[in-house]
Amino acid sequence: MQITIVAGARPNFIKIAPIIKAIENRQKSGADLSYRLVHTGQHYDKNLSDTFFEELNIPHPHANLEVKSGSQAVQTAAIMVAFEQELLQNPTDLVLVVGDVNSTMACAIVTKKLNIKVTHVEAGIRSGDWTMPEEINRIVTDSITDHFFTTSASASENLLKYGASPNKVHFVGNVMIDTLTQNLPRIKQPDFWNEFGLENGNYIVLTLHRPSNVDEEKSLQNLLLGIDKLAGDKKVVFPVHPRTKAILGDAKLDFKNIVYAEPQGYLAFMYLIKNSFAVITDSGGISEETTVLGIPCFTMRENTERPETQTIGTNTLVGISVENLKKHFTDFLQNGLREHGIPELWDGKASERIVDILLSEWKKS
Ligand code: UDP
Repeated sequence: MQITIVAGARPNFIKIAPIIKAIENRQKSGADLSYRLVHTGQHYDKNLSDTFFEELNIPHPHANLEVKSGSQAVQTAAIMVAFEQELLQNPTDLVLVVGDVNSTMACAIVTKKLNIKVTHVEAGIRSGDWTMPEEINRIVTDSITDHFFTTSASASENLLKYGASPNKVHFVGNVMIDTLTQNLPRIKQPDFWNEFGLENGNYIVLTLHRPSNVDEEKSLQNLLLGIDKLAGDKKVVFPVHPRTKAILGDAKLDFKNIVYAEPQGYLAFMYLIKNSFAVITDSGGISEETTVLGIPCFTMRENTERPETQTIGTNTLVGISVENLKKHFTDFLQNGLREHGIPELWDGKASERIVDILLSEWKKS
């Protein structure tokens, strides 16, 4: 079986790393399986791309479509045009896409129109928020997927509700957590650790990149001001996403507690998260990682497509107002973190399950 694996953006790289490792392990034990890795070039900054390939030992891609930035339509269209050529020149049995970025949806559409099977890893999650480009990517991708791999029973239920065939929906766990489990022994202190006076538990990590938080300069500044105040005597380490940097500009505001950093590589970022007092973020993936590491996470969004991080994990959804963040943060300071646990099958073995299921489906077909 020949699999084409698509990856375009930072969270994609983190998700494909353990899948490739699982494929290579099955190859070693004689499975009839090969893969071709296609990087669409959606993220191309060294900080968001190359560093992840190096640190997570992801093989050099067989092809890079180099689509780079653009509006939603321009980028999606560019990926589709280039990926169609890629598939025509390199026939494959199935295409595996992960997550919810433009590359996920664009490549799924091209694949299906060429009558090739689509496999979606992290299928079925839904925020219910149609203003998020990611939600549209999820819904379109899942509407044409042949094999669904999910991170939770509720994601599987979402798919069944919309008519997916039950024998095509597989609840396998979370590949993001496979990467975390495999790399925890390798995490490393960031370079600025001493310079910023960081010690275990004496700082907060902040990441923001969603349009609802960062696209309006004034409200982004107000948000930062509020976070700086609520931090009390704790430093707030803020690795600034390029999208956020473009709004803040070079003249970043001076705060008492907030210290700016470049987007971090995976190993330094996980070190920061694992040793932090708490995390404030609008990322989905980070709320999964903090759940597994038992770190309090405050998500600056009105909704989440990962409800288990809230019901089982350490995540609190606080909305996008700094007043609400303050309310929830104060509650945490007074009462501590509520009881929490790790969602079912987030055990580091999702990728192996995925590859085994694909192999057995292939044998049946
Ligand atoms: N991440 C990282 N360095 C950073 C910020 C994030 O390695 O400076 C990792 C983080 O651990 C998580 C992933 O990038 O695994 C999340 O990416 P992002 O927030 O861009 O995407 P989302 O999860 O919101 O789709």
